[in-house]
Amino acid sequence: MTPAFDVRDLEVRYGGRIAVDGVSLRARPGEIVALLGPNGAGKSTLLEALSTAVAPDRGRIEVFGHDVTAEPVAARRRIGMVFQEQTLDVDLPVERNLWFHARLFGLPRTRARSRIDEVLERFGLADRRRDPVEELSGGLARRLEIARALLHSPGLLILDEPTTGLDPEVRRAVWADLARLRDDERVTVLYATHYLAEAELADSVAIIHNGLKVRSGAPAVLKEELAATALILSTSDDEAAAAELVHAGFDASSGPGGVLVRCARPEQRIAEVVRAVTVPVTEVALREPSLDDVYFATTEA
Ligand code: ADP
Repeated sequence: MTPAFDVRDLEVRYGGRIAVDGVSLRARPGEIVALLGPNGAGKSTLLEALSTAVAPDRGRIEVFGHDVTAEPVAARRRIGMVFQEQTLDVDLPVERNLWFHARLFGLPRTRARSRIDEVLERFGLADRRRDPVEELSGGLARRLEIARALLHSPGLLILDEPTTGLDPEVRRAVWADLARLRDDERVTVLYATHYLAEAELADSVAIIHNGLKVRSGAPAVLKEELAATALILSTSDDEAAAAELVHAGFDASSGPGGVLVRCARPEQRIAEVVRAVTVPVTEVALREPSLDDVYFATTEA
């Protein structure tokens, strides 16, 4: 099966500075992929290279089998792009914004009209079609941008930090839209985020740091790969127990969940830890890694 996108050994430089450093990444059609990484990691640059906005210095990118350098027009037709900054014409009515985009992508008039009706309906914007964009809430404006990106029926939707500046309820609605697109239309979704909670919603996550892909996989698999890194003790006096453990040379601290003891292979050190405290221990648990742990274990290395 042709991948929705296939990035191989991509390198992008700005002057002498390397922004994307040999990244390979691919997705099958209908997959939701998150690029997770801090600001400056190279996420936007990677998305821009995919959408043909910046040229690779090395490597190769295909979108549904079309090389973005050799066949940029064919590749662009398969891509819908939602930028970080709002790019709507706020003075114009909702449907005019869609109309210009549809014509830009060469949709014939009758096809443009029916497709505009479809996306307005799908994104709950049908009764706002004649309103100027400036009267829309931030959430509706974002949905309009997603609707606009889908007008030419691209198989790949690329979004750069799609929920920045939106409140939690609207963010949830945007995520529900994206999941529905995947489920109903098998649209492949690639988005950049620096929110761990948003990366959890993807089918697969690529952690990007300093231009490198440092880890990738399904969120659950990434968590499984990381062994437990701590023990959590419940005791009759957590403060005293933590002090005893620190005295015995452990990296321990007391917190709301009990006493956290950070160490490698914690499952092998339970007896040793329990022996080091004199206050009664009521429970010992291994702390299961979260996506946070995966992220920090990778980016701090
Ligand atoms: P992210 O999207 O993860 O925040 P970017 O791709 O925007 O990361 O940036 C990656 C690196 O490239 C950063 O060091 C950034 O300063 C640099 N960079 C991004 N865009 C440009 C540009 N147009 N000119 C020069 N350097 C840039």
